[in-house]
Amino acid sequence: MIKKVLIANRGEIALRIVRACNELGIKTLCVYSEADEQSLHVQLADEAICIGPPPSHLSYLKADRIIAAAEIANVDAIHPGYGFLAENADFAEQCENCKIKFIGPSSDAIVNFGDKARAREMAVKAKVPVIPGSEGIVDNEKDALAVAKKIGFPVIIKAVAGGGGKGMRVAHNAVAFTKEYSSARNEAEKAFGNGAVYIEKFLEAPRHIEIQILGDQHGNVIHLGERDCSVQRRHQKVIEEAPSPFISAETRKKMGRDAVKLAKSVNYEGAGTIEFLMDEKQNYYFIEMNTRIQVEHGVTEEITGVDLVKEQLLIASGQKLSYEQKDIKITRHAIECRVCAEDPSRNFAPCPGEITLYYSPGGHGVRIDSHVYSGYTIPPHYDSMIAKVMTFGKTRELALDRMDRALGEYLIRGIKTNIPFSRAIIRDPYFREGKATTKFIEEFINRVP
Ligand code: ADP
Repeated sequence: MIKKVLIANRGEIALRIVRACNELGIKTLCVYSEADEQSLHVQLADEAICIGPPPSHLSYLKADRIIAAAEIANVDAIHPGYGFLAENADFAEQCENCKIKFIGPSSDAIVNFGDKARAREMAVKAKVPVIPGSEGIVDNEKDALAVAKKIGFPVIIKAVAGGGGKGMRVAHNAVAFTKEYSSARNEAEKAFGNGAVYIEKFLEAPRHIEIQILGDQHGNVIHLGERDCSVQRRHQKVIEEAPSPFISAETRKKMGRDAVKLAKSVNYEGAGTIEFLMDEKQNYYFIEMNTRIQVEHGVTEEITGVDLVKEQLLIASGQKLSYEQKDIKITRHAIECRVCAEDPSRNFAPCPGEITLYYSPGGHGVRIDSHVYSGYTIPPHYDSMIAKVMTFGKTRELALDRMDRALGEYLIRGIKTNIPFSRAIIRDPYFREGKATTKFIEEFINRVP
């Protein structure tokens, strides 16, 4: 069993990992930047080491410093959380070389799924449906346009190294294609240092449905049902829920089976998410696999009762999965709103600064994952998400009513947040009917003055 873990992350996910370790009797070491000394996870960890100045490239992305800290403090594993180095195959490999367990899949799996065009090929090989698109990378405009014409417009040009909704451009016709193709390449080069792109048919109003899986070192893989993450702004998730209000029990079964098949085909170890887009007829298509714990993992925990972060730690210790497929029962509905320090009235501009007063909601059916408190100053250097509110109940309606109530109770003074915006969505009749697709927010913003 792992005895001591270095947590190579910050914010709510670092705290989430500290909590799981505490329950398992695993010692924790947090590494933090100069901007995060006051963060709750640093206070609650057994040990903490400052690894550099605030900008991520000088601290949370400094693989050599993190590994040096791990060696000095004698840890036996590193949990990367999400973002930062979580899907960096070089980092995973360096950990492997230093005999420190990287909590996640092998560096090979990260390489294969980190490149989205290659991930598509893996899905095709495992006979999992993909969206019609190019066979791998298209590296010149002439070939790219020929592929786009063959698939038929609209198409989406996507960076193979993409993430966080960056490096994606939609083209509705051949004229627009030329411009969007070079924009996608430039943005990808700038954001990821890799300008390679591929092309997919653009689905006009799909649902984003993803399957959570767990695999151990002994070849066992299970799935824990789906999450519906269709409510997005600029291809980034805002509200997530499980189960999906849209899919049938039969589709759920089929998607779960496909997800397990794909994970098994690569001997996948750890927690992972297989993302699909779905059309109105419940046809679904693989888009990518995330080889880490995700922001929205909590909704799956709340509907299944499985602690996914603890499972990650047990799997990394070499234990067999604590559950078989037949043990996974979905017993209720859960929903999550991401609370971000941003101003919806100024095009969601980030709003860092001091939280002068903080009171988080509670009561039956409410879970808050957050590292902030009254007097905490949100640094400007990182993602603007400061909390996740999850609510759950026997039915979707109950979970939604609780979310409405919880968001109404949330008191955060000193900064602006997206809480009123999320509450308006929760109260929106169209959303409540379970009809939201990935186009929902765009239409919602146009509809509500
Ligand atoms: P990222 O890794 O940047 O999150 P994804 O490939 O997971 O990118 O896609 C993010 C979102 O972009 C999807 O949930 C969906 O809303 C939109 N998207 C991606 N591919 C397509 C497509 N082929 N058609 C329509 N929307 C798409």
